[in-house]
Amino acid sequence: KSVVYWMRMGDLRVADNRALSLASLRAHKLGVPLLVLFILSPQDYIAHDRSKRRIDFTLRNLEKMQRSLAELHIPLDVWTHPLRRTLSSAVISYLKRMGATFLFANIEYEVDELRRDISICNLSRADGIQATFVHDKCVIEPGVLATKQGKVYTVYSPFRRSWEQELNANPHYWKKAAELQPNAKSIYESELYGPLFNTPVPSSLEGFELSEKEKENMANFFPAGEDAAVQVLQRFLTTKARASQLGAVSPLAPDAKENSKESRVTNYATDRSRVDKDTSSRLSPYLAAGVISVRECIRATMELKKGFNKAKVEVSKDSGVGVWVQEIAWRDFYVHVLAACPRVSMGRPFLEKYADVVWEDYQEEPERREKEAIKAQEGQAGNPGESVRRWKEGMTGYPIVDAGMRCINEMGWVHNRLRMIVAMFLTKDLMIDWRVGERYFMENLIDGDLAANNGGWQWSASTGTDAAPYFRIFNPYSQSEKVDPAGDFIRRFVPELASLKGKDIHKPPPHIADKLGYPRPIIQHEEARTRALRRFKNPGES
Ligand code: FAD
Repeated sequence: KSVVYWMRMGDLRVADNRALSLASLRAHKLGVPLLVLFILSPQDYIAHDRSKRRIDFTLRNLEKMQRSLAELHIPLDVWTHPLRRTLSSAVISYLKRMGATFLFANIEYEVDELRRDISICNLSRADGIQATFVHDKCVIEPGVLATKQGKVYTVYSPFRRSWEQELNANPHYWKKAAELQPNAKSIYESELYGPLFNTPVPSSLEGFELSEKEKENMANFFPAGEDAAVQVLQRFLTTKARASQLGAVSPLAPDAKENSKESRVTNYATDRSRVDKDTSSRLSPYLAAGVISVRECIRATMELKKGFNKAKVEVSKDSGVGVWVQEIAWRDFYVHVLAACPRVSMGRPFLEKYADVVWEDYQEEPERREKEAIKAQEGQAGNPGESVRRWKEGMTGYPIVDAGMRCINEMGWVHNRLRMIVAMFLTKDLMIDWRVGERYFMENLIDGDLAANNGGWQWSASTGTDAAPYFRIFNPYSQSEKVDPAGDFIRRFVPELASLKGKDIHKPPPHIADKLGYPRPIIQHEEARTRALRRFKNPGES
Protein backbone atom coordinates (compact mmCIF):
# COMPACT_ATOMS: atom_id res chain seq x y z
CA LYS A 1 0.00 0.00 0.00
CA SER A 2 1.10 3.61 -0.57
CA VAL A 3 0.06 7.27 -0.70
CA VAL A 4 0.71 9.26 -3.87
CA TYR A 5 1.26 12.99 -4.22
CA TRP A 6 0.77 14.08 -7.81
CA MET A 7 2.97 17.11 -8.41
CA ARG A 8 2.03 19.46 -11.23
CA MET A 9 3.86 22.21 -13.12
CA GLY A 10 2.92 24.88 -10.57
CA ASP A 11 4.15 23.24 -7.37
CA LEU A 12 7.75 22.22 -7.84
CA ARG A 13 8.92 22.33 -4.26
CA VAL A 14 9.32 20.26 -1.13
CA ALA A 15 9.00 23.07 1.43
CA ASP A 16 5.63 24.49 2.41
CA ASN A 17 3.67 22.50 -0.16
CA ARG A 18 0.20 21.78 1.21
CA ALA A 19 -0.78 18.70 -0.80
CA LEU A 20 2.66 17.15 -0.40
CA SER A 21 2.63 17.84 3.29
CA LEU A 22 -0.84 16.31 3.73
CA ALA A 23 0.20 13.29 1.69
CA SER A 24 3.22 12.84 3.92
CA LEU A 25 1.13 13.04 7.10
CA ARG A 26 -1.30 10.49 5.72
CA ALA A 27 1.44 8.07 4.67
CA HIS A 28 3.09 8.41 8.07
CA LYS A 29 -0.19 7.75 9.86
CA LEU A 30 -0.87 4.66 7.75
CA GLY A 31 2.76 3.54 8.00
CA VAL A 32 3.04 3.22 4.22
CA PRO A 33 5.46 4.84 1.77
CA LEU A 34 4.84 8.21 0.15
CA LEU A 35 5.43 8.32 -3.61
CA VAL A 36 5.70 11.50 -5.67
CA LEU A 37 4.49 11.43 -9.25
CA PHE A 38 5.10 13.93 -12.04
CA ILE A 39 3.66 13.39 -15.51
CA LEU A 40 5.06 15.18 -18.54
CA SER A 41 2.16 15.78 -20.89
CA PRO A 42 3.41 17.16 -24.22
CA GLN A 43 -0.09 17.45 -25.73
CA ASP A 44 -1.14 19.66 -22.83
CA TYR A 45 1.96 21.80 -23.32
CA ILE A 46 1.15 22.23 -27.00
CA ALA A 47 -2.51 23.00 -26.29
CA HIS A 48 -1.51 25.59 -23.68
CA ASP A 49 1.36 27.17 -25.66
CA ARG A 50 3.87 26.24 -22.97
CA SER A 51 7.26 27.70 -23.78
CA LYS A 52 10.36 25.58 -24.19
CA ARG A 53 11.90 27.75 -21.49
CA ARG A 54 9.17 26.90 -19.01
CA ILE A 55 9.52 23.18 -19.81
CA ASP A 56 13.28 23.38 -19.43
CA PHE A 57 12.84 25.20 -16.08
CA THR A 58 10.40 22.48 -15.00
CA LEU A 59 12.88 19.71 -15.80
CA ARG A 60 15.75 21.51 -14.10
CA ASN A 61 13.66 21.92 -10.96
CA LEU A 62 12.43 18.34 -11.05
CA GLU A 63 15.98 17.15 -11.17
CA LYS A 64 16.81 19.13 -8.02
CA MET A 65 13.64 17.90 -6.33
CA GLN A 66 14.38 14.30 -7.12
CA ARG A 67 17.61 14.68 -5.17
CA SER A 68 16.08 16.43 -2.17
CA LEU A 69 13.23 13.94 -1.99
CA ALA A 70 15.67 11.04 -2.20
CA GLU A 71 17.31 12.35 0.98
CA LEU A 72 13.97 11.59 2.64
CA HIS A 73 13.83 8.21 0.86
CA ILE A 74 10.89 9.46 -1.18
CA PRO A 75 10.97 8.56 -4.88
CA LEU A 76 10.03 11.14 -7.53
CA ASP A 77 8.69 9.17 -10.45
CA VAL A 78 8.67 11.21 -13.67
CA TRP A 79 7.12 9.80 -16.80
CA THR A 80 5.72 11.08 -20.08
CA HIS A 81 2.16 10.46 -21.16
CA PRO A 82 1.60 11.23 -24.84
CA LEU A 83 -2.21 11.57 -24.98
CA ARG A 84 -3.87 14.17 -22.79
CA ARG A 85 -7.29 12.56 -23.40
CA THR A 86 -6.24 9.41 -21.54
CA LEU A 87 -4.23 11.07 -18.79
CA SER A 88 -6.86 10.57 -16.07
CA SER A 89 -7.15 6.85 -16.70
CA ALA A 90 -3.35 6.55 -16.86
CA VAL A 91 -3.13 8.13 -13.41
CA ILE A 92 -5.72 5.74 -12.02
CA SER A 93 -3.92 2.72 -13.51
CA TYR A 94 -0.70 3.97 -11.94
CA LEU A 95 -2.35 4.38 -8.53
CA LYS A 96 -3.71 0.85 -8.72
CA ARG A 97 -0.38 -0.54 -9.81
CA MET A 98 1.30 1.21 -6.89
CA GLY A 99 -1.33 0.03 -4.42
CA ALA A 100 -2.22 3.62 -3.58
CA THR A 101 -5.27 4.20 -1.43
CA PHE A 102 -4.86 7.98 -1.25
CA LEU A 103 -4.03 10.59 -3.86
CA PHE A 104 -3.17 14.20 -3.01
CA ALA A 105 -2.66 17.18 -5.34
CA ASN A 106 -2.81 20.96 -5.32
CA ILE A 107 -5.65 22.46 -7.35
CA GLU A 108 -4.99 23.88 -10.82
CA TYR A 109 -7.73 26.40 -11.60
CA GLU A 110 -7.68 26.34 -15.42
CA VAL A 111 -10.76 24.77 -17.03
CA ASP A 112 -9.06 21.81 -18.73
CA GLU A 113 -7.21 20.93 -15.55
CA LEU A 114 -10.32 21.20 -13.38
CA ARG A 115 -12.21 18.91 -15.76
CA ARG A 116 -9.37 16.40 -15.68
CA ASP A 117 -9.30 16.43 -11.88
CA ILE A 118 -13.06 15.98 -11.65
CA SER A 119 -12.72 12.92 -13.85
CA ILE A 120 -9.91 11.66 -11.58
CA CYS A 121 -12.19 12.10 -8.57
CA ASN A 122 -14.94 10.08 -10.23
CA LEU A 123 -12.64 7.32 -11.46
CA SER A 124 -10.76 7.02 -8.19
CA ARG A 125 -13.96 6.74 -6.16
CA ALA A 126 -14.99 3.73 -8.24
CA ASP A 127 -11.65 2.12 -7.40
CA GLY A 128 -11.79 2.87 -3.69
CA ILE A 129 -9.02 5.47 -3.85
CA GLN A 130 -9.55 8.70 -1.94
CA ALA A 131 -8.48 11.72 -4.01
CA THR A 132 -7.92 15.04 -2.21
CA PHE A 133 -7.28 18.31 -4.03
CA VAL A 134 -6.28 21.33 -1.93
CA HIS A 135 -5.73 25.06 -2.41
CA ASP A 136 -2.09 26.08 -2.48
CA LYS A 137 -1.42 28.56 -5.29
CA CYS A 138 -2.76 31.74 -3.69
CA VAL A 139 -2.31 33.42 -0.34
CA ILE A 140 -6.10 33.51 -0.01
CA GLU A 141 -7.84 30.82 -2.00
CA PRO A 142 -10.47 31.63 -4.65
CA GLY A 143 -14.00 31.65 -3.28
CA VAL A 144 -13.24 33.28 0.06
CA LEU A 145 -13.52 36.96 -0.83
CA ALA A 146 -16.81 38.38 -2.05
CA THR A 147 -18.38 41.79 -2.53
CA LYS A 148 -21.32 42.93 -0.38
CA GLN A 149 -23.56 41.49 -3.07
CA GLY A 150 -21.84 38.14 -2.67
CA LYS A 151 -20.09 38.40 -6.05
CA VAL A 152 -16.47 37.87 -7.00
CA TYR A 153 -14.39 41.05 -7.09
CA THR A 154 -13.71 42.13 -10.65
CA VAL A 155 -11.92 45.37 -9.77
CA TYR A 156 -8.53 45.19 -8.12
CA SER A 157 -8.62 48.00 -5.51
CA PRO A 158 -11.64 46.79 -3.51
CA PHE A 159 -10.33 43.24 -3.91
CA ARG A 160 -7.02 44.31 -2.40
CA ARG A 161 -8.66 46.03 0.55
CA SER A 162 -10.74 42.97 1.30
CA TRP A 163 -7.68 40.72 0.76
CA GLU A 164 -5.70 42.73 3.31
CA GLN A 165 -8.48 42.62 5.88
CA GLU A 166 -9.02 38.89 5.50
CA LEU A 167 -5.30 38.18 5.58
CA ASN A 168 -4.69 40.10 8.75
CA ALA A 169 -7.69 38.58 10.46
CA ASN A 170 -6.47 35.01 9.84
CA PRO A 171 -2.79 34.22 10.35
CA HIS A 172 -3.34 30.70 8.99
CA TYR A 173 -3.08 32.21 5.48
CA TRP A 174 0.67 32.50 5.85
CA LYS A 175 1.20 29.45 8.03
CA LYS A 176 3.81 27.05 6.77
CA ALA A 177 2.73 23.53 5.83
CA ALA A 178 4.13 20.75 8.06
CA GLU A 179 7.58 19.36 7.27
CA LEU A 180 7.77 16.03 5.42
CA GLN A 181 8.27 12.74 7.21
CA PRO A 182 10.91 10.50 5.63
CA ASN A 183 9.96 7.10 4.24
CA ALA A 184 11.35 4.03 5.95
CA LYS A 185 14.67 2.98 4.41
CA SER A 186 13.18 -0.43 3.65
CA ILE A 187 11.49 1.17 0.63
CA TYR A 188 14.68 0.57 -1.37
CA GLU A 189 14.25 -3.18 -0.90
CA SER A 190 10.67 -3.17 -2.14
CA GLU A 191 10.26 -4.83 -5.54
CA LEU A 192 7.54 -2.38 -6.45
CA TYR A 193 8.89 0.90 -5.08
CA GLY A 194 12.67 0.40 -5.09
CA PRO A 195 13.00 0.70 -8.89
CA LEU A 196 11.22 4.09 -8.78
CA PHE A 197 14.48 5.56 -7.51
CA ASN A 198 16.33 4.47 -10.62
CA THR A 199 14.64 6.63 -13.28
CA PRO A 200 16.39 9.94 -13.72
CA VAL A 201 14.53 13.09 -14.79
CA PRO A 202 15.08 13.59 -18.53
CA SER A 203 17.15 16.65 -19.43
CA SER A 204 14.81 17.62 -22.27
CA LEU A 205 11.42 16.77 -23.71
CA GLU A 206 10.94 15.94 -27.38
CA GLY A 207 9.50 18.91 -29.23
CA PHE A 208 10.53 21.33 -26.46
CA GLU A 209 14.32 21.20 -26.70
CA LEU A 210 16.35 24.38 -26.19
CA SER A 211 19.69 24.86 -27.90
CA GLU A 212 22.68 24.23 -25.63
CA LYS A 213 23.48 27.94 -25.61
CA GLU A 214 19.96 28.90 -24.64
CA LYS A 215 19.84 26.21 -21.97
CA GLU A 216 22.98 27.66 -20.46
CA ASN A 217 21.64 31.22 -20.61
CA MET A 218 18.42 30.23 -18.92
CA ALA A 219 20.28 28.37 -16.18
CA ASN A 220 22.31 31.54 -15.58
CA PHE A 221 19.38 33.94 -15.59
CA PHE A 222 17.13 31.71 -13.53
CA PRO A 223 18.99 28.98 -11.65
CA ALA A 224 16.74 26.11 -10.60
CA GLY A 225 15.93 24.91 -7.12
CA GLU A 226 14.29 25.97 -3.90
CA ASP A 227 17.55 27.34 -2.49
CA ALA A 228 17.97 29.60 -5.52
CA ALA A 229 14.40 30.86 -5.17
CA VAL A 230 14.90 31.72 -1.50
CA GLN A 231 18.13 33.46 -2.41
CA VAL A 232 16.41 35.54 -5.12
CA LEU A 233 13.77 36.57 -2.58
CA GLN A 234 16.25 37.36 0.17
CA ARG A 235 18.49 39.37 -2.13
CA PHE A 236 15.53 41.43 -3.19
CA LEU A 237 14.34 42.01 0.35
CA THR A 238 17.61 42.49 2.16
CA THR A 239 20.37 43.58 -0.21
CA LYS A 240 20.90 45.98 -3.04
CA ALA A 241 22.46 43.18 -5.08
CA ARG A 242 20.98 42.66 -8.48
CA ALA A 243 18.84 39.60 -9.03
CA SER A 244 20.88 38.95 -12.13
CA GLN A 245 24.08 38.62 -10.11
CA LEU A 246 22.88 35.13 -9.39
CA GLY A 247 23.56 34.41 -13.04
CA ALA A 248 26.56 35.18 -15.17
CA VAL A 249 24.52 37.06 -17.73
CA SER A 250 23.06 40.37 -16.73
CA PRO A 251 20.36 42.12 -18.72
CA LEU A 252 22.08 45.37 -17.80
CA ALA A 253 25.73 46.04 -17.21
CA PRO A 254 26.50 45.76 -13.47
CA ASP A 255 26.63 49.09 -11.73
CA ALA A 256 29.49 49.15 -9.25
CA LYS A 257 28.23 52.34 -7.63
CA GLU A 258 25.21 50.68 -6.16
CA ASN A 259 26.57 49.78 -2.76
CA SER A 260 23.97 51.42 -0.57
CA LYS A 261 22.74 49.42 2.39
CA GLU A 262 19.15 49.86 1.29
CA SER A 263 17.56 46.85 -0.29
CA ARG A 264 15.73 46.92 -3.59
CA VAL A 265 12.41 46.46 -1.86
CA THR A 266 13.01 49.64 0.17
CA ASN A 267 12.87 51.66 -3.02
CA TYR A 268 10.16 49.59 -4.66
CA ALA A 269 7.38 52.13 -4.00
CA THR A 270 9.20 54.85 -5.92
CA ASP A 271 11.36 52.89 -8.38
CA ARG A 272 9.26 49.94 -9.42
CA SER A 273 8.29 51.31 -12.82
CA ARG A 274 11.88 52.01 -13.84
CA VAL A 275 13.18 49.45 -16.32
CA ASP A 276 16.73 50.77 -16.58
CA LYS A 277 17.48 49.52 -13.08
CA ASP A 278 16.99 46.17 -11.43
CA THR A 279 13.95 47.30 -9.47
CA SER A 280 11.78 44.22 -9.05
CA SER A 281 12.38 40.81 -7.51
CA ARG A 282 12.46 38.63 -10.67
CA LEU A 283 10.79 35.99 -8.62
CA SER A 284 8.03 35.35 -11.18
CA PRO A 285 9.51 32.19 -12.76
CA TYR A 286 9.84 30.69 -9.28
CA LEU A 287 6.33 31.71 -8.22
CA ALA A 288 4.78 30.54 -11.49
CA ALA A 289 6.44 27.12 -11.14
CA GLY A 290 5.82 27.05 -7.39
CA VAL A 291 9.53 26.66 -6.61
CA ILE A 292 8.82 28.96 -3.69
CA SER A 293 5.52 29.20 -1.88
CA VAL A 294 3.68 32.48 -2.00
CA ARG A 295 3.16 32.15 1.76
CA GLU A 296 6.93 32.14 2.18
CA CYS A 297 7.03 35.52 0.38
CA ILE A 298 4.49 36.93 2.82
CA ARG A 299 6.34 35.52 5.84
CA ALA A 300 9.63 36.92 4.59
CA THR A 301 8.19 40.43 4.36
CA MET A 302 6.98 40.11 7.95
CA GLU A 303 10.37 38.98 9.19
CA LEU A 304 11.96 41.95 7.54
CA LYS A 305 11.81 45.00 9.66
CA LYS A 306 11.88 45.60 13.33
CA GLY A 307 9.52 48.55 12.94
CA PHE A 308 6.79 46.40 11.45
CA ASN A 309 4.12 44.76 13.47
CA LYS A 310 5.17 41.13 13.23
CA ALA A 311 1.61 39.90 13.53
CA LYS A 312 0.43 41.98 10.60
CA VAL A 313 1.14 41.80 6.89
CA GLU A 314 2.21 45.17 5.53
CA VAL A 315 0.06 46.01 2.49
CA SER A 316 0.09 49.81 2.58
CA LYS A 317 1.11 52.11 -0.24
CA ASP A 318 3.52 53.95 2.06
CA SER A 319 6.34 51.42 2.09
CA GLY A 320 8.22 49.48 -0.55
CA VAL A 321 7.36 46.24 1.20
CA GLY A 322 3.67 47.17 1.30
CA VAL A 323 3.59 47.99 -2.40
CA TRP A 324 5.41 44.76 -3.21
CA VAL A 325 2.87 42.74 -1.20
CA GLN A 326 0.21 44.47 -3.31
CA GLU A 327 1.79 42.83 -6.36
CA ILE A 328 1.32 39.48 -4.68
CA ALA A 329 -2.32 40.51 -4.25
CA TRP A 330 -2.47 41.16 -8.03
CA ARG A 331 -1.32 37.59 -8.54
CA ASP A 332 -4.10 36.30 -6.27
CA PHE A 333 -6.61 38.63 -7.96
CA TYR A 334 -6.07 37.20 -11.44
CA VAL A 335 -6.29 33.63 -10.15
CA HIS A 336 -9.58 34.46 -8.44
CA VAL A 337 -10.91 35.99 -11.67
CA LEU A 338 -9.81 32.94 -13.66
CA ALA A 339 -11.40 30.55 -11.17
CA ALA A 340 -14.69 32.47 -11.14
CA CYS A 341 -14.90 33.24 -14.86
CA PRO A 342 -13.96 30.10 -16.82
CA ARG A 343 -14.46 32.03 -20.07
CA VAL A 344 -11.07 33.67 -19.61
CA SER A 345 -9.46 30.20 -19.83
CA MET A 346 -11.29 29.73 -23.11
CA GLY A 347 -9.97 32.71 -25.03
CA ARG A 348 -13.05 34.88 -24.35
CA PRO A 349 -12.81 38.52 -23.30
CA PHE A 350 -13.55 39.16 -19.65
CA LEU A 351 -15.81 42.07 -20.71
CA GLU A 352 -18.20 40.40 -23.13
CA LYS A 353 -19.22 43.77 -24.57
CA TYR A 354 -15.84 43.93 -26.32
CA ALA A 355 -16.16 40.52 -27.96
CA ASP A 356 -16.95 42.25 -31.27
CA VAL A 357 -14.16 44.83 -31.33
CA VAL A 358 -12.73 44.73 -34.84
CA TRP A 359 -9.11 43.68 -34.80
CA GLU A 360 -6.86 43.81 -37.82
CA ASP A 361 -7.30 40.67 -39.87
CA TYR A 362 -4.60 38.35 -38.64
CA GLN A 363 -4.86 34.66 -37.98
CA GLU A 364 -2.12 32.33 -37.05
CA GLU A 365 -3.17 29.23 -38.94
CA PRO A 366 -0.12 27.66 -40.55
CA GLU A 367 -1.31 28.33 -44.10
CA ARG A 368 -1.99 31.90 -43.30
CA ARG A 369 1.37 32.26 -41.64
CA GLU A 370 3.02 30.99 -44.80
CA LYS A 371 1.12 33.45 -46.94
CA GLU A 372 2.02 36.32 -44.64
CA ALA A 373 5.66 35.29 -44.78
CA ILE A 374 5.58 35.37 -48.56
CA LYS A 375 3.98 38.82 -48.58
CA ALA A 376 6.52 40.04 -46.08
CA GLN A 377 9.35 38.76 -48.28
CA GLU A 378 7.81 40.71 -51.13
CA GLY A 379 8.21 43.82 -49.01
CA GLN A 380 4.51 44.45 -48.52
CA ALA A 381 4.87 46.20 -45.19
CA GLY A 382 1.72 47.40 -43.49
CA ASN A 383 -0.22 44.14 -43.68
CA PRO A 384 -1.12 42.70 -40.28
CA GLY A 385 1.11 39.63 -40.61
CA GLU A 386 4.05 41.90 -41.25
CA SER A 387 3.27 44.12 -38.25
CA VAL A 388 2.98 41.13 -35.95
CA ARG A 389 6.26 39.82 -37.24
CA ARG A 390 7.94 43.18 -36.62
CA TRP A 391 6.43 43.42 -33.15
CA LYS A 392 7.68 39.93 -32.28
CA GLU A 393 11.17 40.68 -33.56
CA GLY A 394 11.43 44.10 -31.92
CA MET A 395 11.52 46.00 -35.21
CA THR A 396 8.54 48.36 -34.88
CA GLY A 397 10.61 51.56 -34.99
CA TYR A 398 9.52 52.42 -31.43
CA PRO A 399 12.72 51.91 -29.39
CA ILE A 400 11.10 51.16 -26.02
CA VAL A 401 8.73 48.61 -27.60
CA ASP A 402 11.57 46.99 -29.53
CA ALA A 403 13.82 46.86 -26.46
CA GLY A 404 11.04 45.18 -24.47
CA MET A 405 10.37 42.57 -27.15
CA ARG A 406 14.04 41.82 -27.68
CA CYS A 407 14.46 41.41 -23.91
CA ILE A 408 11.67 38.79 -23.91
CA ASN A 409 13.25 37.05 -26.89
CA GLU A 410 16.64 36.93 -25.18
CA MET A 411 15.71 36.31 -21.55
CA GLY A 412 12.20 34.87 -21.55
CA TRP A 413 11.40 37.56 -19.01
CA VAL A 414 10.78 41.28 -19.01
CA HIS A 415 9.78 43.91 -16.46
CA ASN A 416 6.06 44.38 -15.80
CA ARG A 417 5.96 47.96 -17.15
CA LEU A 418 7.44 46.79 -20.46
CA ARG A 419 4.92 43.97 -20.67
CA MET A 420 2.23 46.63 -20.41
CA ILE A 421 3.88 48.91 -22.97
CA VAL A 422 4.40 46.20 -25.62
CA ALA A 423 0.95 44.70 -24.99
CA MET A 424 -0.76 48.03 -25.33
CA PHE A 425 1.23 48.79 -28.46
CA LEU A 426 0.15 45.54 -30.11
CA THR A 427 -3.51 45.86 -29.17
CA LYS A 428 -4.10 49.61 -29.38
CA ASP A 429 -1.54 50.92 -31.88
CA LEU A 430 -1.47 47.91 -34.20
CA MET A 431 -5.05 46.83 -33.35
CA ILE A 432 -4.00 43.20 -33.27
CA ASP A 433 -6.14 40.82 -31.24
CA TRP A 434 -4.76 40.45 -27.69
CA ARG A 435 -4.91 36.65 -28.05
CA VAL A 436 -2.04 36.83 -30.59
CA GLY A 437 0.15 38.58 -28.02
CA GLU A 438 -1.03 36.44 -25.14
CA ARG A 439 0.03 33.39 -27.08
CA TYR A 440 3.42 34.80 -28.05
CA PHE A 441 4.14 35.59 -24.40
CA MET A 442 3.16 32.08 -23.31
CA GLU A 443 5.39 30.60 -26.00
CA ASN A 444 8.38 32.66 -24.93
CA LEU A 445 8.19 33.56 -21.26
CA ILE A 446 9.85 31.41 -18.63
CA ASP A 447 7.19 32.57 -16.15
CA GLY A 448 4.19 32.02 -18.49
CA ASP A 449 1.11 31.61 -16.32
CA LEU A 450 -2.42 31.65 -17.73
CA ALA A 451 -4.03 33.73 -14.97
CA ALA A 452 -1.38 36.48 -14.81
CA ASN A 453 -0.72 36.53 -18.55
CA ASN A 454 -4.35 36.59 -19.58
CA GLY A 455 -5.06 39.16 -16.86
CA GLY A 456 -2.20 41.37 -18.05
CA TRP A 457 -3.16 41.10 -21.71
CA GLN A 458 -6.83 41.76 -21.17
CA TRP A 459 -6.01 44.66 -18.85
CA SER A 460 -3.78 46.18 -21.56
CA ALA A 461 -6.33 45.54 -24.30
CA SER A 462 -9.16 47.07 -22.20
CA THR A 463 -11.19 43.89 -22.54
CA GLY A 464 -10.33 42.89 -18.96
CA THR A 465 -10.52 44.09 -15.38
CA ASP A 466 -8.96 47.54 -15.76
CA ALA A 467 -11.20 49.94 -13.87
CA ALA A 468 -10.27 52.70 -16.35
CA PRO A 469 -12.11 52.61 -19.68
CA TYR A 470 -10.66 51.83 -23.09
CA PHE A 471 -9.23 55.28 -23.60
CA ARG A 472 -6.25 54.40 -21.43
CA ILE A 473 -3.74 54.21 -24.29
CA PHE A 474 -0.05 54.53 -23.51
CA ASN A 475 2.00 56.93 -25.59
CA PRO A 476 5.13 54.86 -26.26
CA TYR A 477 7.35 57.95 -26.42
CA SER A 478 6.34 59.48 -23.09
CA GLN A 479 6.34 56.01 -21.46
CA SER A 480 9.88 55.57 -22.72
CA GLU A 481 11.06 58.81 -21.11
CA LYS A 482 9.40 57.86 -17.85
CA VAL A 483 10.60 54.29 -17.45
CA ASP A 484 14.03 54.54 -19.07
CA PRO A 485 14.97 58.23 -18.71
CA ALA A 486 18.58 58.00 -19.88
CA GLY A 487 17.83 55.27 -22.42
CA ASP A 488 20.18 52.70 -20.85
CA PHE A 489 17.72 49.85 -21.25
CA ILE A 490 17.13 50.72 -24.90
CA ARG A 491 20.88 50.93 -25.54
CA ARG A 492 21.35 47.44 -24.05
CA PHE A 493 18.67 45.76 -26.14
CA VAL A 494 18.66 47.88 -29.31
CA PRO A 495 22.40 48.25 -29.80
CA GLU A 496 22.05 49.92 -33.20
CA LEU A 497 20.77 52.99 -31.31
CA ALA A 498 23.56 52.96 -28.70
CA SER A 499 25.21 56.13 -30.05
CA LEU A 500 22.09 58.28 -29.71
CA LYS A 501 22.04 60.98 -27.05
CA GLY A 502 19.28 62.83 -25.19
CA LYS A 503 15.71 62.43 -26.34
CA ASP A 504 16.73 60.98 -29.70
CA ILE A 505 17.12 57.58 -28.06
CA HIS A 506 13.37 57.55 -27.37
CA LYS A 507 12.37 58.93 -30.78
CA PRO A 508 15.17 58.64 -33.30
CA PRO A 509 15.01 61.29 -36.05
CA PRO A 510 14.14 59.50 -39.32
CA HIS A 511 17.34 60.39 -41.19
CA ILE A 512 19.51 59.15 -38.32
CA ALA A 513 17.43 55.98 -37.92
CA ASP A 514 17.94 55.30 -41.65
CA LYS A 515 21.69 55.67 -41.28
CA LEU A 516 21.80 53.36 -38.29
CA GLY A 517 19.73 50.72 -40.05
CA TYR A 518 16.87 51.10 -37.57
CA PRO A 519 13.33 50.94 -38.98
CA ARG A 520 11.05 53.94 -39.15
CA PRO A 521 7.90 53.73 -36.99
CA ILE A 522 5.58 51.05 -38.28
CA ILE A 523 2.58 53.29 -37.57
CA GLN A 524 1.97 56.86 -36.39
CA HIS A 525 0.89 56.72 -32.78
CA GLU A 526 -1.67 59.56 -32.92
CA GLU A 527 -3.47 58.09 -35.95
CA ALA A 528 -3.41 54.65 -34.38
CA ARG A 529 -4.85 56.05 -31.18
CA THR A 530 -7.78 57.63 -33.02
CA ARG A 531 -8.50 54.32 -34.76
CA ALA A 532 -8.41 52.39 -31.47
CA LEU A 533 -10.78 54.84 -29.77
CA ARG A 534 -13.19 54.58 -32.68
CA ARG A 535 -13.21 50.80 -32.70
CA PHE A 536 -13.65 50.47 -28.95
CA LYS A 537 -16.42 53.05 -28.89
CA ASN A 538 -18.37 51.11 -31.50
CA PRO A 539 -17.56 47.39 -31.20
CA GLY A 540 -18.39 45.69 -34.49
CA GLU A 541 -17.51 48.70 -36.63
CA SER A 542 -14.16 49.37 -38.23
P1 FAD B 1 7.76 41.86 -8.76
O1 FAD B 1 7.47 43.26 -9.09
O2 FAD B 1 8.91 41.59 -7.89
O3 FAD B 1 6.43 41.24 -8.12
C1 FAD B 1 6.44 40.08 -7.27
C2 FAD B 1 5.53 39.01 -7.78
O4 FAD B 1 4.18 39.45 -7.79
C3 FAD B 1 5.82 38.57 -9.21
O5 FAD B 1 6.87 37.65 -9.28
C4 FAD B 1 4.47 37.98 -9.63
O6 FAD B 1 4.33 36.67 -9.18
C5 FAD B 1 3.49 38.87 -8.89
N1 FAD B 1 3.03 39.94 -9.77
C6 FAD B 1 3.58 41.17 -9.93
N2 FAD B 1 2.85 41.91 -10.79
C7 FAD B 1 1.82 41.13 -11.18
C8 FAD B 1 0.72 41.33 -12.06
N3 FAD B 1 0.52 42.48 -12.69
N4 FAD B 1 -0.13 40.29 -12.25
C9 FAD B 1 0.03 39.12 -11.62
N5 FAD B 1 1.06 38.89 -10.78
C10 FAD B 1 1.93 39.87 -10.55
N6 FAD B 1 3.32 37.40 -14.58
C11 FAD B 1 3.57 36.09 -14.53
O7 FAD B 1 3.98 35.58 -13.49
N7 FAD B 1 3.40 35.31 -15.64
C12 FAD B 1 2.95 35.81 -16.83
O8 FAD B 1 2.78 35.08 -17.80
C13 FAD B 1 2.69 37.20 -16.91
N8 FAD B 1 2.28 37.77 -18.07
C14 FAD B 1 2.00 39.11 -18.10
C15 FAD B 1 1.55 39.68 -19.30
C16 FAD B 1 1.26 41.04 -19.37
C17 FAD B 1 0.76 41.63 -20.66
C18 FAD B 1 1.42 41.85 -18.23
C19 FAD B 1 1.12 43.32 -18.27
C20 FAD B 1 1.86 41.29 -17.03
C21 FAD B 1 2.16 39.92 -16.95
N9 FAD B 1 2.62 39.32 -15.75
C22 FAD B 1 2.88 37.98 -15.72
C23 FAD B 1 2.70 40.10 -14.50
C24 FAD B 1 4.04 40.78 -14.21
O9 FAD B 1 4.46 41.49 -15.34
C25 FAD B 1 5.14 39.82 -13.77
O10 FAD B 1 4.66 38.99 -12.75
C26 FAD B 1 6.36 40.59 -13.25
O11 FAD B 1 6.87 41.40 -14.27
C27 FAD B 1 7.38 39.62 -12.79
O12 FAD B 1 8.53 40.30 -12.36
P2 FAD B 1 9.01 40.23 -10.85
O13 FAD B 1 8.98 38.84 -10.38
O14 FAD B 1 10.29 40.96 -10.77
O15 FAD B 1 7.84 41.07 -10.15
